[in-house]
Amino acid sequence: MEDCLFCKISQGEIPSTKVYEDDDFFAFKDINPVAPVHVLVVPKKHIANIASLTEEDAAVAGKMLYAIQKVAHLLGLDKDGYRVVFNTGEKAGQTVLHMHAHILGGKEMAWPGV
Ligand code: AMP
Ligand code: ZN
Repeated sequence: MEDCLFCKISQGEIPSTKVYEDDDFFAFKDINPVAPVHVLVVPKKHIANIASLTEEDAAVAGKMLYAIQKVAHLLGLDKDGYRVVFNTGEKAGQTVLHMHAHILGGKEMAWPGV
């Protein structure tokens, strides 16, 4: 999609610190980390957020969880655990309207965190 930051990052048009890539997903370090490990996983297909998923997107949405598992493994987060966050919509603080999972780790995290 034109003028979408995460479409441009996943297509290599805007630089990022890449962590993982396959045919369907791209993962890169968050520019403003809120945890010692903070990586974003995005589908290469432009989907705005979970709220805008259609049945046609079900396969990519399912595969995204598996991509998140692979990225967390690459980051060495398996043993200690990690948090996965999908900010969805305005009140949740979603600032980039291209669906993305935040993988957060490397520290003890409190819950509930809202
Ligand atoms: P959200 O607020 O859930 O929409 O998350 C968007 C995230 O994208 C924020 O954590 C930002 O720090 C991050 N971000 C924005 N621009 C960039 C960029 N150019 N490279 C990497 N991360 C970015
Ligand atoms: Zn996009």
